[in-house]
Amino acid sequence: MDIFEEIKSKLDIIEVAKYYGIELNKQNKCCCPFHTEKTASFQVYPKSQSFYCFGCGVGGDIISLTEKLLKLSPIKAAERLNSDFNLGLNLKPHKPTRAEMAENERQQRKKGLVSSWDGWKDKALKQLIRRERFYKQAQRQFAPKSIDDTLNPIFVKACQSLEYLSFLIDELMAVDEIEREQTWQKFFLNDGEEFLKNG
Ligand SMILES: [Zn+2]
Repeated sequence: MDIFEEIKSKLDIIEVAKYYGIELNKQNKCCCPFHTEKTASFQVYPKSQSFYCFGCGVGGDIISLTEKLLKLSPIKAAERLNSDFNLGLNLKPHKPTRAEMAENERQQRKKGLVSSWDGWKDKALKQLIRRERFYKQAQRQFAPKSIDDTLNPIFVKACQSLEYLSFLIDELMAVDEIEREQTWQKFFLNDGEEFLKNG
């Protein structure tokens, strides 16, 4: 059995669709996530473990659904399913790049799947990125000119802050929704907000 068949044998397409944000009704139908429409023409078939859209003609199985929803290659989609559903198959775990995560967010936003929390987080992310840019500039500007120079406190502060900022940004963009929210609360709401205020 190849890896795709193995993954398909272990998963249910309904469960996968729901996990990635497709809100199916009782007939396993919904508005298509791949084209704009007002009536539901996207159908998932649990019996054949497949899906089809009567509006735009897109269709396939669990792997192609994951591929299309998350904009991944087939092998990346397999890796992603393996890690998201803890299938324990011998594939290297998927560690998404920042670009992939940003794209994923963009897709979700397009589909209207963002919560108010996501909206709030977006603002914070912009703020953090702005802050990151500011400190990068300060770091360059106040860098010691020679090895004997005393370190400018602004330079030291910039170095420390950049490390923390980069950590926060990565954490905020983490794929796991729950982990993401916890991080948010832990770092951003508590000392994070303070951190932003004081620079
Ligand atoms: Zn469609």
